[in-house]
Amino acid sequence: MNFAKIVKAEICDKPIKDNHCKKAFLAGLIRGTGKLFERDGEIGLEFRVADEKTAITVGNYLQSLFDYEIREIEVSEDHLNKKDKFLVTVCGDGAEAVLIGLGILQLEGEGYTVNFDLYSAVTEKNCCLRAFIRGIFVASGSCTVPSGKNKDGAGYHLEMVFSHAKPAMQTQEKLAHNGIKTKIIRRKESFVLYIKSVEEIKNFIAFLPAPVSVLKLTDLIINRELSNSSNRMKNCDIANLNKQVDAFIKQVSAIDLIEKEAGLSTLKKELYDVAIARKENPEETLLELSERLNISKSCLNHRLRKIVAIANDLRGDTNV
Ligand SMILES: [Zn+2]
Repeated sequence: MNFAKIVKAEICDKPIKDNHCKKAFLAGLIRGTGKLFERDGEIGLEFRVADEKTAITVGNYLQSLFDYEIREIEVSEDHLNKKDKFLVTVCGDGAEAVLIGLGILQLEGEGYTVNFDLYSAVTEKNCCLRAFIRGIFVASGSCTVPSGKNKDGAGYHLEMVFSHAKPAMQTQEKLAHNGIKTKIIRRKESFVLYIKSVEEIKNFIAFLPAPVSVLKLTDLIINRELSNSSNRMKNCDIANLNKQVDAFIKQVSAIDLIEKEAGLSTLKKELYDVAIARKENPEETLLELSERLNISKSCLNHRLRKIVAIANDLRGDTNV
């Protein structure tokens, strides 16, 4: 299920009182989806929000902080997400002051340049850091939690999408300072900061903070564990378990054999990484191992099968 909607609704329903945090929230939101453009020699900015309520909130914040009134809001059909989205445009008189005020542009000599240092302008305070990350999450975040049918531990996913590597890495660092571990992967032209562990997702949502969503998530997890354990009883399938154990033993003995006969360094890099990870983390399930390696479970399976095949070839050679 789409849990991000719940988190975002909680964030947007809670009005921000302090100007410093309003500014940080707006800056995060705009950094998340904003695009700069030039029209008639003037610089402008457009960004998207999911619903009318958020558009109004953003408008109020711009008004109270910069005395800027939004003149253009366009409702557009976002075909990718199948959602109506509101496209807000900031341009014309006062737009420059907004962009500089939010730390998106910086003055340099006669003109200005884009400030790629995400956290330089608005987030000296911890309250502002949280507001800033709330803004990013509202703009570019998503979070799914599994429905009851999924297997254990699978399916929890929270992410925020960035168009450049640097802001993704800066955000990762800020979150790490606050005890929240994230990973980054490249997806086409984007850089995706993501969390797969349900505990870390809870920590992240608590950090924002969106306490009601934390409670709702906890509730979902508990319900799911209950339904899973009863399913497990029903489906307890010894034959299947034995098959998994057999596969594991085969993999480990294949890795040992390759190490002894040819050396693991003879493996291709991607297989080498899998072999080392499997050897060093015998207690981990395939899913945990695939997350550790940042690859899909089916990709991991495929590579493990290749390793077993290589070992079988070696065995053939030595037997002859
Ligand atoms: Zn603040």
